Amino acid sequence: MKVFKFGGASVSNYEKIRNVGFIVQHFPSEKMMIVISAMGKTTNALEKVTDAFFAGKKEEALQLFRAVKLQHLDEAKFLLVTHFNPLMEQFNNFFTEVEWLLHDKPVREYDYYYDQIVCVGELLSTSIVSAYLNEIGINNQWLDVRDIFRTDDNFRDATIDLAFTQQQIDEQVKPVFNRTNIVITQGFIGCTDENESTTLGREGSDYSAALFANMLDAEHLTIWKDVKGVMNADPKEFADAQYISELNYDEVIEMAYYGAQVIHPKTIKPLQNKNIPLIV
Ligand code: ASP
Ligand code: MG
Repeated sequence: MKVFKFGGASVSNYEKIRNVGFIVQHFPSEKMMIVISAMGKTTNALEKVTDAFFAGKKEEALQLFRAVKLQHLDEAKFLLVTHFNPLMEQFNNFFTEVEWLLHDKPVREYDYYYDQIVCVGELLSTSIVSAYLNEIGINNQWLDVRDIFRTDDNFRDATIDLAFTQQQIDEQVKPVFNRTNIVITQGFIGCTDENESTTLGREGSDYSAALFANMLDAEHLTIWKDVKGVMNADPKEFADAQYISELNYDEVIEMAYYGAQVIHPKTIKPLQNKNIPLIV
């Protein structure tokens, strides 16, 4: 079992999504859990939708959300033929849920609405990638991670109930791999026991992927990025920045702690606990 994670930059448009297809094709007959972020800057765009909604600017919120919808539809059109209509059905469910909420007036706290709106980014991106892989003949199963990752209701920074989540993975995720080699799901999001969506903190998808690697006893976690690897400095600021070929867990934690944008700091523990290598 391998766990792959693709960040927002790696699925930001139809060409990048095609590239995901190429990568996955290189691993035929491997069992793979693929964890994906929202496309490009979608999370930021959905944050703006939330802000407008919470400020009582309903029309502006709907307008901003419409832009997010159109962008996803545009990319999907480039990728899909036979799988386009089924994807639209799935999309419409997600769209309706958000629009229904946007037509209301805010009566609860900001963070609650943030999570209900922002989680859609990952639901849309994973739906497109899953449909595209099916379209090119890579059989896979899309999974709503909110049925698996149980969290508390600390919205925007929810804590995962590890024991409950492990049980869901054993009972609901492992059996899916008897029917298909590839399961596609969302990073960054979860769900409370009251069926409310939650998020795990910005850039939380690495952490989701690490938890899957831990709970599925994966042989390794691969985080695909649109850079070649981990560097000892930001190449935009230091022309002589160099690639680092190997690091131990403590060194990665230290780098993240001192501000390197390499990997979400929470990501390392679940890997270290089971000695699972991380490949960037
Ligand atoms: N989409 C979320 C974000 O932009 C989570 C992630 O990318 O890891 O923060
Ligand atoms: Mg990201």
